[in-house]
This record gives sequence, structure tokens and C-alpha cells, in this order.
Amino acid sequence: MSEVSETIDTDIVIVGGGVAGSALAAALRNSGHRLVVIDQRTGPIDTSRGDHFSPVNVEAFADWGILDGFFAKGATKRIGHEFRTSSGEVLVSAEYTELGIKYPYFLVYHHDLMAETFQEFAAESKNYQLFQPYAAKSFDIEDGSIKSVTAVSPEGKSITVRAHLVIASDGAASPIRAALRFPTFEHPYRRTMVAFFATRPADLSPEDYFFRYSDPSGVLVIQQRNDGQVKITMPIGDEGVPWWKVSSQEQRAEVLGERAHILRGLETEMGGFYPVRMIHALQYVSGNTVLVGDAAHAIHPARGQGLNMGIGALPELLKHIPSPSEISNPAKVAAGLLAYEQVQKPKYERVMARNHAAAMDMELSADDNHEFFLKRQDDAIRKMALIPEARRLHLLEGTGYHFGVPGVDEVEF
Ligand SMILES: Cc1cc2nc3c(=O)[nH]c(=O)nc-3n(C[C@H](O)[C@H](O)[C@H](O)COP(=O)(O)OP(=O)(O)OC[C@H]3O[C@@H](n4cnc5c(N)ncnc54)[C@H](O)[C@@H]3O)c2cc1C
Repeated sequence: MSEVSETIDTDIVIVGGGVAGSALAAALRNSGHRLVVIDQRTGPIDTSRGDHFSPVNVEAFADWGILDGFFAKGATKRIGHEFRTSSGEVLVSAEYTELGIKYPYFLVYHHDLMAETFQEFAAESKNYQLFQPYAAKSFDIEDGSIKSVTAVSPEGKSITVRAHLVIASDGAASPIRAALRFPTFEHPYRRTMVAFFATRPADLSPEDYFFRYSDPSGVLVIQQRNDGQVKITMPIGDEGVPWWKVSSQEQRAEVLGERAHILRGLETEMGGFYPVRMIHALQYVSGNTVLVGDAAHAIHPARGQGLNMGIGALPELLKHIPSPSEISNPAKVAAGLLAYEQVQKPKYERVMARNHAAAMDMELSADDNHEFFLKRQDDAIRKMALIPEARRLHLLEGTGYHFGVPGVDEVEF
């Protein structure tokens, strides 16, 4: 039973203060809009999620005036990547300076701190209010628009927020997407992902690179964190989740060491198991409400793009949010959001399709016949590295410049 009830009128309400919603709040901090963020979390969501903001998003952070703030808080850089065989033969090695982009690096920042850091930036605005932990429980919907959101704290305090624009950044299970009955396209992947943490192996270099290792037994990726650890992720093969759950240090070291010899004997801590599902909303917008982040497009982590797609859509969305003096006009809000959807949706259809292809490659790498498949994949990567156009596409997609670098090239996939 609610003990206290409060009604708040605002310009924009963001439901879901994960990475995508909080990044938008930070980007809006100087816009002059009144902003309310509602989030139900009591702590970090899941420490195994992505730690690397892609170069295209680093460029956005610079535009929003928050890039220096991240460095001040300890963010580091990742400047390149290498795909290697288990024994260390290099299939492709690249640094992002090759692309001629302004910020040729990923920003490495601990996932657990991301949302909170964006919220700190957002709090520089006197028009910003955060309600956390508050769970949005009901939505007053009229003609496809959400007129108000009612959220409740664990103590039973209730707030009703009436807003001109509603941002649904409430994650892959999105209660708002369900309330608005948005249809989705979904694909459940067969292979669960597993994540491990470990102290960085001393001989894993360069220090500021991402690594993918492949062996006839399977693939894995190693990503640096900025706490001296690395995160190792891979799809689980036929041994299955129960085997990994009870696995000993020695058993884990044996499997990881086979896929990447550099990990032989490594002590690991289990990060978690992730059944993966692609979910793409068939529409992002209804009236005054727009889906953002995983609520709109949850993807397989094969390319480490999930959080980066969520942030990557924000510069386009920001262009279409009416100014504070116009946001109370429902027609302007609806038209702005539709214009956003018309630009962003077709782009993300293609990014999702490419990601799905990479996800299927990862599935096959853990499937029957994976030895043959992995050999073919290694050969394709070796060739790609030597063909300038293919290599550039590989780097553009990896860094979030899916459609080319503005002013440098325009790429059709
Ligand atoms: C194992 C794994 C590894 C990954 N690795 C990478 C990677 O390397 N690179 C990458 O870019 N991405 C990666 N991702 C994906 C990435 O983590 C997600 O895409 C990203 O975190 C999604 O952000 P979001 O803000 O859209 O959603 P979320 O982070 O899920 O945030 C949603 C927020 O909404 C809140 N919420 C939900 N319902 C309500 C409600 N009713 N009321 C109030 N609040 C609510 C939740 O509390 C949460 O804070 C990975 C994901 C997984 C699972």
C-alpha cells in the first residue's frame, strides 16, 4: 500500500536509468528541459556486461562535454585489437588510428560505474530529478501516448510523473514495450555465453588491445577492464552449463588454455552465464514515447555492441527532441519521434543483421563440425586483413562507424 503519493509535471521522463537512459540524461543536462529519471535498481545490474565505449560514442561524449569527466574518473583507452590463433599466430592486428577518426580509441570504464557516472553528469543540471530505487508499475496510455507513469519505492512511496516525452530505456524485458504492445522480432540463440574474470596475464600484450583467440576447440575473447583484471567470454559448447557450474580451477584453466595458450594455468572467477536472445522492436515510437537501448534492440554480445548501440542512437534522437519552449506541443513531439524512427530504424535493421551474422558465427564455433568451421573462419579473417576495403569495413563496424566516417567515407553494407 502506498504511504505517500506525489505528482510531478516534467518535460521528459526517462524510465530506466541503465547505461542508455543515464547517458541520455547526461546528454540533456544543458538542454534546459525538466528531466525526471526513474530506475528500480538498488545496485549495479551485472558486472559481466560491456566495459568499452566505442570510438563513435567517445566522439559523442566529447560533443556532450563529458569525455574529460570520464578520464578524471579513471577511464583508460583501448587503441586496437588482435585476432589470434590459440598458439598466438596473428590473423589480424589493427589500431584505430588507421581509420582517420578524431578519437581513435575505445574508452574503457568499469560497467558497474557507467550508469552512476552518467547520472552524476546529469545532476549538474538543476532541472534533473532521479527517483531510485523506484519501479514503474503503471502507465496511463491515451491514443498511443503515455500520459503519466506511476512508480513505487520499496518502502511504498509512490510518484506519478506526467511528461510531454517518455523515454523507455527499461532494458530488454521493457515493461513499457509490453504495455504499448509493440511487436518484436526475436531470435533465441542456442549457445549460452559464459564470462570469467582473472588477473591480467603478465605476458598478454599490448596492454591496451582487445583479443580474440581461436582454436579448433572453440573461440574466446579477452577484454581489459580498468581494475587490473580481464574479462574472458565464450560460448558454451556441448559440455553445457551444469559442467561449468561445478568446474574446478584446473578444469577451467584446461579449456581456456586450449583455446588461448596464453591463459594456461590461469586462475579465474566465474562471472556468470548468459542465455542470449536477439529482440528487435518492430517499432521504436508510439505517440510521445520512444524505446531506447536494449528496450528497442537487445543483441548477442558477439561484437560487444549492445551498450554501444544504445548510446549510438542518442545523437540522432537528440536532434529530434523539441526545444523546451516547444516540448509541450504533442504534435511536435510525435513528429520529432517519428522522424527519428525513420532515420534510425533502417540503420539499426542493418546493424542488427550484421550482428546476427556474427552471433551465428559464434554459435557455429561451439556447434557440431566446429573444427571445420573455425578453420574456414580463420582463413577468412587472414584474407580480410590483407584486402584494404574489407579491412576498413571490419574496423568501421567494430568502432561503431557502421555507415562510414562522416566527411571521410560513406559506406554501403
Ligand atoms: C554478458 C554480457 C556481455 C555484454 N558485453 C557487452 C560488450 O562487451 N559491449 C557492449 O557494448 N555491450 C555488451 N553487452 C550488452 C550491454 O550490457 C547492454 O546492451 C546494455 O547494458 C543495455 O543498456 P540499457 O540501458 O539499454 O539496459 P539495461 O542496462 O538493462 O538498463 C535498464 C534499466 O531499466 C531499469 N528498469 C527496468 N524496468 C524498470 C521499471 N519497471 N521501473 C524502473 N526501472 C526499470 C533497470 O533497473 C535498469 O537500470 C553485454 C551484455 C551481456 C549480458
